[in-house]
Amino acid sequence: MCGVIGICSDGVAWEAYRALLAIQHRGQNSAGILTMNDKFYRKQGDGLVSEVFQNYPLDELKGKKGIAHVRYPTAGTDPASEVQPLFINYPYGLALAHNGNITNCEELKGFLREKRRSLQTDSDSEILLNVLADKISKHGLDEALGQTLDLVDGSYSSVMLLGKDEGSVIGFRDRHGIRPLVIGKKETECGTNYMVCSESVGLDVTGYELVRDVKPGEAVYFSNGSMRSKQLHPPKPAHCIFEYVYFSRPDSVIEGQSVYEVRFKLGENIDFDKDVDAVIPVPDTARTAALGFSLKYDIPYREGLIKNRYIGRTFIMPTQRYRESAVIEKLNVIRKEVSGKRIALVDDSIVRGTTSRRLVNLLKRYGAKEVHFVSSCPPITNPCFYGIDMTIKNELIASKGTDGIEKKINADSVTYQSIDGLVKAIGLPRSHLCLACLTGDYPTCMTCERVKELGQARENERNNWKEPRR
Ligand code: AMP
Repeated sequence: MCGVIGICSDGVAWEAYRALLAIQHRGQNSAGILTMNDKFYRKQGDGLVSEVFQNYPLDELKGKKGIAHVRYPTAGTDPASEVQPLFINYPYGLALAHNGNITNCEELKGFLREKRRSLQTDSDSEILLNVLADKISKHGLDEALGQTLDLVDGSYSSVMLLGKDEGSVIGFRDRHGIRPLVIGKKETECGTNYMVCSESVGLDVTGYELVRDVKPGEAVYFSNGSMRSKQLHPPKPAHCIFEYVYFSRPDSVIEGQSVYEVRFKLGENIDFDKDVDAVIPVPDTARTAALGFSLKYDIPYREGLIKNRYIGRTFIMPTQRYRESAVIEKLNVIRKEVSGKRIALVDDSIVRGTTSRRLVNLLKRYGAKEVHFVSSCPPITNPCFYGIDMTIKNELIASKGTDGIEKKINADSVTYQSIDGLVKAIGLPRSHLCLACLTGDYPTCMTCERVKELGQARENERNNWKEPRR
């Protein structure tokens, strides 16, 4: 999962930096900004946004157009060489920042071999950039992007900086619009500035007004104070439900739906029939759902778990061993809120069950009489190939059903959200959502070979991952 930004403005570097900070939760592995006037300027590196840009004079990133990226790796094997934005200089200077996951990489590699284009990394984003470059070298921009959308499968909400003529910033989304991408606008004395960003919070912190989402299959072009758009492919919306459940910030608005309100309704929509004394959320993501749940059932809401805010999202640790120890380092218990009580412990979801089991055990160690686990998301039974790091089916605790799941996580009971409850909370038509991780119905063509190939890519990445020194 990643975050992308594209900006056409007088203050591009500073705005890109601030917006990157706002979407830091989308990737903590690397960060980068690339800008242009008659030349390209780039600063990027491994680590958090604040680390990469520490002591860096942002005015070295010159020009009025730029793109930016924060990265969490979900494909490829050499994270250090895949820091984005990516850049190539033929047929024009062309830079790309990509959020999502391409699912037909092997086919596209064959296509690129035929075109005598060689790749430097295993990154699916580099493949996307090269397909774009090939198409742009032969066709007008709309045609090139349209053909790219026809060729490339999977999820890609991307931004591109094209150095042709005076340069333009382009945002585009795959035909399903799986990952989010919004457009913002700001009027200044010098004219109209535009931004596209993975989440509306990036617009909020830089004073841009949310205009709308980029449509699935649409490209939007920004150049010198103007915007144009082109529907490249008929939209077939399949927006990722996990963006609402977990990934996006609660203060973001995706497809017109406030993530905060969706999470609140997720809490309200859970059918629960146990007698408990308190509702305790797993901080931070599950807080809003726990609040909705507590008000609906009139059960006191208590903060029994406290998070060390200096430790990042534990799923971002690519190995199970590392994830498990991070859970314990991340959360501590307020004994008085837990001891002797029957607790409904609300989390946004249960994926592998690691966190859930550790948390239940932790609460019991602090004297909880009963722990009833409540998941604001329905059972996750199938892998995601579109950018959420759950590519391996047998790692998912509910992949073979939910019978006996409470024993596996040592809880007194487990209550899941229903798919209907989830769809109602999101408030978009069911047919406009990607529910593949819950139903196994993938919006793009997922052949057995593709599934195997993508699972293998993730395994390779894990095997090559080096634990940070501490
Ligand atoms: P677990 O059930 O131990 O895998 O942990 C689930 C918790 O991690 C929930 O809060 C999830 O929402 C969160 N999480 C988010 N993304 C992922 C992911 N890709 N893999 C595993 N857990 C995730």
